[in-house]
Amino acid sequence: MLDHQGHHVQVTAIIAAGGRGQRFGSARPKQLLTLDGRPILERSVALFLGHPDVDEIVVALPADIAADPPPYLRAASKPVRIVAGGARRQDSVANGFLAVSEQSVVVIVHDAARPFASADLVSRTIAAAVESGAALAAVPASDTVKLTGDRLVIETLPRESIYLAQTPQAFRREILRDALALGETGGEATDEASLAERAGHAVRVVEGEPGNIKITVPEDLTVAEALARRRASAARRPAIRVGTGYDLHRLVDGRPLVLGGVRIASERGLEGHSDADVVCHAVTDAVLGAAAKGDIGRHFPDTDPAWKGASSVDLLRRAVGTLRTAGFAVVNVDVVVVAESPKLWPFVEAMRANLADAMGVAVYAVSVKRKTNEGVDATGRGDAIACHAVALITNSQS
Ligand code: MG
Repeated sequence: MLDHQGHHVQVTAIIAAGGRGQRFGSARPKQLLTLDGRPILERSVALFLGHPDVDEIVVALPADIAADPPPYLRAASKPVRIVAGGARRQDSVANGFLAVSEQSVVVIVHDAARPFASADLVSRTIAAAVESGAALAAVPASDTVKLTGDRLVIETLPRESIYLAQTPQAFRREILRDALALGETGGEATDEASLAERAGHAVRVVEGEPGNIKITVPEDLTVAEALARRRASAARRPAIRVGTGYDLHRLVDGRPLVLGGVRIASERGLEGHSDADVVCHAVTDAVLGAAAKGDIGRHFPDTDPAWKGASSVDLLRRAVGTLRTAGFAVVNVDVVVVAESPKLWPFVEAMRANLADAMGVAVYAVSVKRKTNEGVDATGRGDAIACHAVALITNSQS
């Protein structure tokens, strides 16, 4: 992922799967059991394998399984290292931490027993750790919470202040190092965030997900199986979705004119924070809109220095990456550019090629049309260039 300066932040995910699942009580470690035909561990690892912000994965497994890991951990699309877990959960994470590559700045820890966390939750937890140093997913308590001793209520705690910790939990590398060092010297904890707290670091809460359940006891499997099946049938349901995008930028002296990633010789260019490429902005909003994923301003705020001078073709590429993570691909895009001048026809083919490349589709899936506004209104007077776009996306693989 990128930080506010636009620098790449290398991220390693540690999957804690070292436990034998004492509370679960089955002969096989619970993380190897299947939900709707797919192992729990494979599901949890797949979340990070498919995540654009994560560069490498370390999986801590019970020693005998680490010695002969399942095939889905061997043939992977990004580096996956396997380590033997330790006696306690934090020992497994500590062993995993030793296998994190030097260049990684942020480490995100996740329980293999939580196979239903979403990619969005992973993104938000990483982003919060990049910003604040340490963050965990947690959900507000919905039950009334009693503090007890000897089976008697000592106090009823104010529910608004109670959050139930989940994973993922993400840390800047040095913070997790501190936390684990505290664990080495005898501190015991059920999660890394509490070690980080005890080491004196502020830990931020990001809104977790009720569906991000932890499979702890056999009864949880029934709920998890139902959840897995429901998600599978939702994913199989073919969907085609349409989105629309619009943008307008003012034409001013002394700015470059960039349309659809093509730099066009012109005395005047479009005013804006980035390269002000209205065509890419409209197309980005159309594809985000089709997936109901917000708009370009939410993903790439112009108050964020990371995007100052950014290439809008790259923003489009990132937006389509977000879609892909959600299981969608672009089918086709149709664009209307409204400009009184300059004449755009010599640049149409290059714009189509740039847009197609950014979206990972064939050129024939991208149409760019030109219009003048017949001298009417701001675009007609040559004060601005506007662009309309429509995008069709699908979750079907064919
Ligand atoms: Mg714009």
